[in-house]
Order: sequence, then C-alpha cells, then structure tokens
Amino acid sequence: MPTEQTRVYSLLILIALCSAVAGPASALDHVTLRRDGREIQVDGRLLVTAQDGGLLMLAADGVLWAVPPEEQIHHTADDTPFEPLSPEAMAERLLDELPDGFDVHHTAHYVIGHDTSRVYAQWCGALFERLYRGFTNYWSRRGFKLHEPEFPLVAIVFADRNAYAKFSQPELGDAAGSIIGYFSLRTNRMTMYDLTGIETLNRYGTARGTTAQISQILAQPDAQRTVATVVHEATHQIAFNCGLHTRYSDCPVWFSEGIAVYFETPDLGSTKGWRSIGTVNGPRLLRFHQYLAGRPANSLETLIADDKRFRDPDQAQDAYAEAWALTYFLIRQRPSQYVAYLELLSQKKPLLNDGPQGRLKEFQKTFGDWRKLDAEFLRYMTRVR
Ligand SMILES: [Zn+2]
Repeated sequence: MPTEQTRVYSLLILIALCSAVAGPASALDHVTLRRDGREIQVDGRLLVTAQDGGLLMLAADGVLWAVPPEEQIHHTADDTPFEPLSPEAMAERLLDELPDGFDVHHTAHYVIGHDTSRVYAQWCGALFERLYRGFTNYWSRRGFKLHEPEFPLVAIVFADRNAYAKFSQPELGDAAGSIIGYFSLRTNRMTMYDLTGIETLNRYGTARGTTAQISQILAQPDAQRTVATVVHEATHQIAFNCGLHTRYSDCPVWFSEGIAVYFETPDLGSTKGWRSIGTVNGPRLLRFHQYLAGRPANSLETLIADDKRFRDPDQAQDAYAEAWALTYFLIRQRPSQYVAYLELLSQKKPLLNDGPQGRLKEFQKTFGDWRKLDAEFLRYMTRVR
C-alpha cells in the first residue's frame, strides 16, 4: 500500500477521532447516504458506530464505507444474514463497473477482471495462487493459522498503463502515474496493468504471447523489481483477507509493510512452491546498510511508535528498508515472540487507535526494552549479506 493508505486515514479521521464504539446489533444494515451530490445505497455489515454517529459498513463486495453523520440520510436494519458475493456475482459486479472490453478470469481464490490477453490474466492468477499457497503454508508452519478469505480476492488488470492511471486517479491522486499497482484497503481490490505491455516490449524487443514468453520477459533483472511490487501488493491483500491484519485497524505500518516486503522477492522459476520466501531482500538490505550511516539513535522507537516516516516521501524508503530488516531479524531471532505479537495485532478492531505510547508499550511487552533489542538488531543486521 503506497500513498493510498494516507488518503484512507484522512477520510476516516473524523470518525476515528471520536473513540469508536463497536457492536453490530443486527445482521444487515441499510444506509442511504449522499456523497458528491449523489444518493448511494449501502447494504452490509455494520462494523463500527462512532460516538458522533459516524458508521463503518462492510458491503457484500468487500468494500468498506466510512459514512460520517452529515452524509447519512436513512438507516435501517433487519435480520437478513450478511452474505458476501459469490465469485460469479463478484465477476458480474466488476464487469458492470469496469470500462467496456473487460473479461473475467477465475482461479480458486481470485476473480481477475482484465482487458489484457487471457494468457496474461492466467499468468497473474497462477502467480497469485502460488503466493497464496506459499504465504498460508509459511504462517501455519510457524503456528499461526490463517482462514480462507471471506470475499473472493479481486484483481483488476489493465492492458494499457494510461487507462490504469485514469481509473486509479480518484484513489491515488497524482501518484497514479508513478505507482504500478496497489491494494486498496477501502475496496479490498488490487489494481494494476500488464507489465509486459508496450514499454517492456520496447525495452526487450520480445513479442508477448505465451506463458513462457511472459515469464521470460518478467524474469529480466529490472522487470523483477516491477514484479516484486505486484507480489508486495498481493501479499497485503492476502494478509488483510486471511486473518493476519484487519482493515482500518491500528496495526503498525512497519508490521504490515514489513511482511509485504519480506514476501516481495519474486519467485518466477518455480511452478509450484515459492522458494524465495524469507530470503534476503537485496535492494532493501542495501538501502538499510546505507541508512545505517546516519541512523538516529531512536530510529527503532520512531518506527514502532507511529507511521509518520512511511508517509513522508523523504523518509519512506528508509522506513520500508528498516521495516524489512526488523521483520527479517525478528522472524529469525525471536520467532515465537514475533508470532505472539502477530496474534495480538491480528485481534485489533477497526478504528480503535492505541497512540504512540500504547504501541510502544505493547511492543515492549512482547519483545522487551526497545534499546536492548535495537543493539541486538544492529549487531545481527550488520552481519547479513
Ligand atoms: Zn505496502
């Protein structure tokens, strides 16, 4: 999740400021709201009612709706059970929303809306499913059990980069031109474009077509960074849908980003497993080593206490590198504490914030004094190559 998360948080700030009161009383809530001059009907599960009357709703397509009191026109509830959309219904919903010319490719867990070649959509589906398997196996071997996603996992793949940028503009703003794919906490979807498109073709002079050709193009060293971004976003989506984190909860960004960066090393060589999980992430390690030269003494404290460094473009790359390094270190050196902390964070409810002191306290309750841990962390990481 790049800048998108910032926007989500700013949209929610009104609701989040009033300490939230959870408690869905009925099975299905129906809210009519007015936004941007339009009347919108949202039916879904009520997740949070804030003290000021603001609502957080989860719709059957997995989209989260934060509705401040001034937008609400009408609100009723009944006993109809909440039912997530089936893959078929999700596909229909997608085709309704997307521009003309889109088709849908289904896999076991994914619904992929695309206007690319069928082969490219299949290549993406196979990559996601492999990651899904690798990810869930990885955590269950470490004693954390994930659950099946409640909603079909949706990915939208544009053939054309400009069409993608135009579609993503409302969510990403000006960053749409520079972000190659993203997972949205609000819509629960991934959006991206065909990485073997015209630009890559020009660079490698290769014709796109078969699965083997796609793999060949994307296995080139500079294309691998691009694939890593897609894998990174796909990791977020699985983590937020299978029980590692809860959307809109106060899971520290170093933790969710640390996991995404830990998994982002692409493994295009294998057709079954995902052998590169947990290997050293070369570019992030390099960045972390560079950061060490001027690293402030309280770097670990600022990384844990709040998410500011991830939101500041001047500090974000170092923060991502440090989040990777910390995740790498903890999973290797403090595995049971790390899983205990993961259990704790996975229970967090939407829109309840711990604040910097609360976060630090929780972290130190699991891992001990951060200064001591920091010394151990640095000793360990300077040896990693
Ligand atoms: Zn991310």
